[in-house]
Amino acid sequence: MPHHSLLDLALVRLDEAAGYLEVDPDVIEKLQYPRETTKVRLMIRMDDGSRKSFLAWRCRYDDTRGPTKGGIRFHPDSNEDEVETLAFWMMFKCAVMNLPYGGGKGAVCVDPRKLSKAELERLSRAYIQAFARIVGPDRDIPAPDVYTNAMIMGWMADEYSQIVGQASPAVITGKPIALGGSVGRNDATARGGYYLVKDLASVLGLEGKMRVAIQGFGNAGQFIASLLAADSHQIVAVSDSTGAVYAPEGLDINLLLQTKADGLPVSSTAGRHGHQLINADDLVTIDADLLVPAALESMIHEGNASHIKAKVILELANGPITPEADKILAEKNITVLPDILANAGGVTVSYFEWVQNKQGYAWTLDEVHERLRTIMVREGRAIFNITQEKHVTWRTAAYIHALARLASAIEAHGTQSFFTS
Ligand code: NAD
Repeated sequence: MPHHSLLDLALVRLDEAAGYLEVDPDVIEKLQYPRETTKVRLMIRMDDGSRKSFLAWRCRYDDTRGPTKGGIRFHPDSNEDEVETLAFWMMFKCAVMNLPYGGGKGAVCVDPRKLSKAELERLSRAYIQAFARIVGPDRDIPAPDVYTNAMIMGWMADEYSQIVGQASPAVITGKPIALGGSVGRNDATARGGYYLVKDLASVLGLEGKMRVAIQGFGNAGQFIASLLAADSHQIVAVSDSTGAVYAPEGLDINLLLQTKADGLPVSSTAGRHGHQLINADDLVTIDADLLVPAALESMIHEGNASHIKAKVILELANGPITPEADKILAEKNITVLPDILANAGGVTVSYFEWVQNKQGYAWTLDEVHERLRTIMVREGRAIFNITQEKHVTWRTAAYIHALARLASAIEAHGTQSFFTS
């Protein structure tokens, strides 16, 4: 079998969506390659006095619709292909939500749990020193992603401000509120997914009390658990990188949140409050109405997709389902609310943060929630309509919806027929 990169697989979605629209060939020419990917080696002083280097990347995939936007991931498996693919997804996600941004992404190949706090700060600042000419409030705006957080964004914003010689909070989003972050950013990804499911419950066949399984119990996973539990839905299973717990009558979410806050894995709650230990790989096959992947890529694949029992999958993670698994799920009539819609609440409130920084005016939590809800509902319904008109999956519909916006932006610069007629 030929080897396919993650980006090759992601590009299949572009071709597929293009088949439903009359797009100019310029559009495909422009969108099938990342515009700019910079690779550097960050060098920092470790606490023991030694020097250590870490590979790092920043990709600006395309900026036709505005400055590029996308998170920075700190992960030992990070690589260039993954960074470019995540940037491609960001481009589509911003277009799905009609945010005035292109797609970007960054990463450092590092296991941050092996660094001290001071080393983590030096690494975060080194990232901005290396990429200061690539990022910028009107050029490329990073945000948190896997294993990066508000404090890291605060260090990065500070480093950038020192380099350019002026306060520049709009260069990065997901900052601490005290440093220009937005209220409502912390749970925005989960909240966006929650508003989407709530608004579409009747068309998704999810009315009434739901049984929910959540894969990954980090930022996205913990907040979706809290929001759904507060709405009296039952969270029956959750997992993290070390294991999973299951309780057919519903897990104790407060116990799980406290456990994670204490730095312990979810499996350490086994035996308490009816929590049973299960294999982390079995989580996706639990008997639930809603399955929420909120960990990493490609966790639902050919090997486990046929065993999934959920009616609906809400992709809070980016790229959790492989294309082969997608086909199996479609045959099983399982609805997949795709990442570029389902988890777009995070970038939407990041956009709100950037707008507030540029305005120098902070919104209230109610304003943030209401504006987020309005956009999620508007774009969710528009994509539902495409599924009905074109008889396609939600994922294909979301790509069609976004590609139409990307195409009109690219075509507005003039197409081949314009220049030759
Ligand atoms: P996070 O680092 O806070 O959490 C990731 C969680 O996944 C952790 O609990 C980790 O233990 C768990 N995990 C790792 N490997 C696992 C495995 N094999 N099985 C089960 N769990 C496993 O990260 P996050 O910010 O919550 O992001 C999670 C996903 O959501 C990523 O795909 C990310 O790109 C996506 N996402 C996050 C945001 C955001 O605003 N945080 C926005 C959009 C998309």
